[in-house]
Amino acid sequence: MADDKALTKRADDFSAWYNEVVLRAELADYSPVRGSMVIRPYGYGIWENMQRALDDMFKATGHQNAYFPLFIPLGFIAREAEHVEGFAKEMALVTHTRLVKGPDGGLIPDPASKLEEPLVVRPTSETIIYDAFSKWVRSYRDLPVLINQWGNVVRWEMRTRLFLRTAEFLWQEGHTAHASEAEAEEEARRMLGVYREFQDNWLALGVITGQKTPAEKFPGADRTYALEALMQDNRALQTGTSHMLGQNFAKQFELKFQAESGQEEYAWNTSWGSSTRLVGGLIMTHGDDGGLVIPPRVAPIQVVIVPIYRSDTERALVMEKAEFVSNVLRQERIRTHIDARDTLKPGPKFYEWERKGVPIRIEIGPKDVAAQKLTVVLRTDILEGVARKETMDEAVAVMTVPRRLDDYQRALLAAAADRRERNSYRGVSDYAKWREIVEGTGGFVYAGWCGSAECEAKVKEETKATIRVLPDEEFRTPEKPTRCAVCGGTAAEEAVWARAY
Ligand SMILES: [Zn+2]
Repeated sequence: MADDKALTKRADDFSAWYNEVVLRAELADYSPVRGSMVIRPYGYGIWENMQRALDDMFKATGHQNAYFPLFIPLGFIAREAEHVEGFAKEMALVTHTRLVKGPDGGLIPDPASKLEEPLVVRPTSETIIYDAFSKWVRSYRDLPVLINQWGNVVRWEMRTRLFLRTAEFLWQEGHTAHASEAEAEEEARRMLGVYREFQDNWLALGVITGQKTPAEKFPGADRTYALEALMQDNRALQTGTSHMLGQNFAKQFELKFQAESGQEEYAWNTSWGSSTRLVGGLIMTHGDDGGLVIPPRVAPIQVVIVPIYRSDTERALVMEKAEFVSNVLRQERIRTHIDARDTLKPGPKFYEWERKGVPIRIEIGPKDVAAQKLTVVLRTDILEGVARKETMDEAVAVMTVPRRLDDYQRALLAAAADRRERNSYRGVSDYAKWREIVEGTGGFVYAGWCGSAECEAKVKEETKATIRVLPDEEFRTPEKPTRCAVCGGTAAEEAVWARAY
């Protein structure tokens, strides 16, 4: 069905634009259960490409995949005090295992099947995984344990924002155990680096990295490192976290080992995760008023070929050429798709693939076949010195497509990083001015922070902005701030503040 009604413009209503892109690019849909979503094949295809790339990176850094149960005994979650407090308000519980006919004929939970101890549907798996590790690890020779799990988690949520905030989401969670604090710290930082490489070089997000404040860290962690991307509406999106858990969980789950010295010691843990939220981040980073813009490396379709014809003879002619071009590109490991639908004219097809963010479209008409030409159209005119739409010799077109995709991928990252810096405000020391930015244009505001939770809480209360990270060295402002932007006291750190998703 033709669907060429224009999308809401980003500048008019960013959040309406986002929802329309998700629905009309057929990435996801609402579900009958509030707070949860249906991921459609095209959206799932993006996630699969993300998974594949990340999975390779995890394995290249020595990790193995495993799977742990969806159900966690309530007592496990309760063992780590900060952990249970952090997740208490969003936990889904299984309390019964059977239904019976109730007094009014409807089905009710069978009181006789009430579980002695309720089961939590995993909000995250530290507890059940470290319990398993405690059985696997006996001596220092069994360490490190380097595990990743692909799965789903539930954090109860009634407000749905497709991909960004849903009760159930897909993710990966890495869990490791080490013999020393230094080794665990190195692992937590290494995985932050892996995420950064993935999010910049595959998703072209242009992230910044740093450490979370004690108020914003993961419940139960000693330290949390995070990646933050700046969306086009100038709100921040946390795109991944890596936690140095210290010995907090090891102590609760008796995760001990015999050290080389013969002494019994608690292991050191890390955990790190990223989720389908990244799909939302990708949309809000690259999308435009025409719809989705997908970085080629994760695009389910990298090149769509649209045959143009008026008769059956012409159709046969251009289809043969389309198949040929597609096969040549596939040999270059490019994901192609031929839009051979007779039910739709070329115009509406163009709209549809643009809305779906396919990086390159190739148009082939009968005249092109005769002249051995192809028309190559880029989804956006982001490539400097390259026309968005160009008709060229078939051989040249086919040969240059891989390079065009690479250039396009790099240009998206450069544009995202450039936009982030244009919307980053540094050296702001006056609180009134600071507030004006946060409550006005938004963006990343780099400013001094005295380190007090009071100043952090005051800002959150007054402006809804939070400290996204205490930035890593390379993102810091060369001239270190001296004053806390909130209270005027001595600055202990430079902090990046923003309103966030
Ligand atoms: Zn202060």
